[in-house]
Amino acid sequence: MDLKEYLKNPDKEKLFENTFSEIKKIQEKYKPFITISEEHARKYLEEEKGDKDFLLPISVKDNICTKGIKTTAGSKILENYIPPFDATAIKKIKEVGYIIGKTKMDEFGFGTFCLNCAYGIPKNPYDVGRSCGGSSGGAACLTSALKLPHIAIAESTGGSISCPASFCGVVGLTPTYGLVSRYGLVDYASSLDKIGVIAKTCFEVAHGLTKIAGYDSKDSTSINRKSEDYTKYLKKDISKFRIGVPKEYFDNIDEEVKKEVWRAIKKLEGEGAKYEEISLPSTKFALPSYYIIAMSEASTNLARYCGIRYGMTKEIKGSYNEFFSEVRGEYFGEEVKRRILMGTFYRKAGYRDKYYLKALKVRGHIIKEFKNEFKKFDCILAPTMPIIAPKFTDIALLSPAQQYAMDILTVAPNLCGFPHLSVPCGKSNGMPVGLHLIGDHLQEGKILQLGSWV
Ligand code: GLN
Repeated sequence: MDLKEYLKNPDKEKLFENTFSEIKKIQEKYKPFITISEEHARKYLEEEKGDKDFLLPISVKDNICTKGIKTTAGSKILENYIPPFDATAIKKIKEVGYIIGKTKMDEFGFGTFCLNCAYGIPKNPYDVGRSCGGSSGGAACLTSALKLPHIAIAESTGGSISCPASFCGVVGLTPTYGLVSRYGLVDYASSLDKIGVIAKTCFEVAHGLTKIAGYDSKDSTSINRKSEDYTKYLKKDISKFRIGVPKEYFDNIDEEVKKEVWRAIKKLEGEGAKYEEISLPSTKFALPSYYIIAMSEASTNLARYCGIRYGMTKEIKGSYNEFFSEVRGEYFGEEVKRRILMGTFYRKAGYRDKYYLKALKVRGHIIKEFKNEFKKFDCILAPTMPIIAPKFTDIALLSPAQQYAMDILTVAPNLCGFPHLSVPCGKSNGMPVGLHLIGDHLQEGKILQLGSWV
């Protein structure tokens, strides 16, 4: 049953019972959750929203604050953190749903395969020997396995919604930077972080976005704009659509992935949309620019985890610096430490101009290049990921730099703050392939319109 059918004849008690009975089985098989919040959900449904006849199960990535429910960001350092407040996006979505649990993620969002979570690894429902993608791996895993109406609230910095959506065969929408409030999100890189939605269909994604979008005075980067009904764009005529297909986004891509993506583009052509091949020559600079900016911002954002204000702590011994190192040394994972070291290096006096400021300039250049194309095209299409979900045994052979390189297709739209949507467009070797639809700022409606035809 999907959300559309459910809306016609909602039975919230039945959906509640079915959901929890299903997710317990799913948790045993694929392990998408860090926390399942059944008691919390029951109480919310019965006591606070008893008068509402329509309510929906909502899962939340574990870096988004949920009042009264543990929020770890996938890290041991926040193992005991129970936020006393809801993130703005959660407050809004709770008008139409209840929180069923918190989903697994790479620690603080640092990863592409969801292997860097301090609370275990989710397994791909299509093949348990393969990754769910990262960093919102738990959200995509659950969405793929749960055959009931459900919306997953997730987050992307450099591809964390699109990548797992593509690997698990579900739909993932990353909105324009600033369209959804970041208030209550555990920061990774503040100029890149966006809260978005993962679900089984474009309808569910559009429904979720409609609820969480809109201005929030608590976030200084929030766009001054009201939300709108994004479901109204779905399945609208696309015969006037012009699509750009960047040739650089097909270099070094798995042949089967390429084939499925082209099949989808031809299908859209069959519906009346026109496509043209284009060139985005700065593509090769997107990855280094992204990683320099993301790590630089992450290294400052993580300074707050010092064992004093919140999170894990230890007995204070020696100097403050020794104490901070003790706490951080013990409770941060390996990838977090790597990124703190690299990010601090990029920002160091003497290196700032060479790395960080240069990366910002490159970012500006990439934005211009895309903006130029959006004068002619409604949407840019490409594969979401260069590969299908890889086997755990194959990922183990990759160096950190080789793992970062897998983000080559998702980092540019994230750097630019453009909305992007990954929709399943076929299969290779029994595994899902994702098509990436990138739109100009605030053109969520257009990418959903086109995506709904795929
Ligand atoms: N894989 C990218 C990274 O590790 C993106 C992750 C994300 O969007 N949080 O930074």
